[in-house]
Amino acid sequence: EEEGRPNSQEEKILVSVRLRPLNERELARNDGSDWECINENTIMIKNSIVPTAYTFDRVFGFECPTKQVYEEGAKEVILSVVRGVNSTIFAYGQTSSGKTYTMNGITDYAVADICGYIEVHKDREFVLKFSAMEIYNEAVRDLLSADGTPLRLLDDPEKGTVVEKLTEVVLRDQNHLQELLAICEAQRKIGETSLNETSSRSHQILRLTIESLARDYQGLRSSGTLTATVNFVDLAGSERASQTLSTGARLKEGSHINRSLLTLGTVVRKLSKGKDSHIPFRDSKLTRILQNSLGGNARTAIICTLSPARSHVEQSRNTLFFASCAN
Ligand code: ADP
Ligand code: MG
Repeated sequence: EEEGRPNSQEEKILVSVRLRPLNERELARNDGSDWECINENTIMIKNSIVPTAYTFDRVFGFECPTKQVYEEGAKEVILSVVRGVNSTIFAYGQTSSGKTYTMNGITDYAVADICGYIEVHKDREFVLKFSAMEIYNEAVRDLLSADGTPLRLLDDPEKGTVVEKLTEVVLRDQNHLQELLAICEAQRKIGETSLNETSSRSHQILRLTIESLARDYQGLRSSGTLTATVNFVDLAGSERASQTLSTGARLKEGSHINRSLLTLGTVVRKLSKGKDSHIPFRDSKLTRILQNSLGGNARTAIICTLSPARSHVEQSRNTLFFASCAN
């Protein structure tokens, strides 16, 4: 394994699909499910006019715990960060399909694994840093600061796109992570009181940066710092973007269309096809912020979450369409 770059076989985007269980409301109104996970790679819709099977890198049924989704759909991509490879994990799906549920669990397991790795690899000295932001209507907000002023994106000749004045906190341990996540949650709530539905329309990015320095045989620092970031991205609900995406309609201005989500669709589709075409990272805030952690020298995993309910079947098909484009 070479430091700082992914292995050539790893470059593909890892795409998985997670079906959540029916909830009590859905069961109460007899809103059953026509979805069935046939095997580890295939999900199928039965009882439909056109029964269809969809194949992905991994499919997780409603009985799969988040631990397994993490282990098989994200862990390898995330842990490449300790050898200096940037990575991004996305949760994509309609509102109420389980994005936040899935991403929160994955973040916890990932931090536990990274802290465990640091604990046993005493040949290097590690520093973990944490930051958090929200993108709503193409405005970027710091979730670790009470100052609601939108943050600017700057182009740094060495680092690429930098979020100006974004708070970065040295992460001590997992308890500290819980404290920081509580602050983020409170900041998100404050934003929501002024604007309806913010949480389903905004993207949340939690970012861990890992710096490490080799120690020599006497335990002293030697040269060669390795820095990499891993991004945990809880995307806005896909319901507003999916129709435009599936019909290939042109991106329109206005808050009812989510520019970042649509641009992400285009970027992911182009990345999964190959490297020769122009990739429009600069067309949205989300893709600009994540540019260094997507494609090329970075690793990406997308977990598409599905509601099993019959009443959500159109949105579920749209989500699988997005997943197929990324696969
Ligand atoms: P989203 O973030 O996509 O809007 P949430 O993650 O908030 O959706 O999930 C909606 C509801 O469904 C929450 O109450 C959540 O606890 C529950 N839920 C989601 N996925 C699962 C799952 N795999 N198992 C059990 N409950 C789930
Ligand atoms: Mg959510």
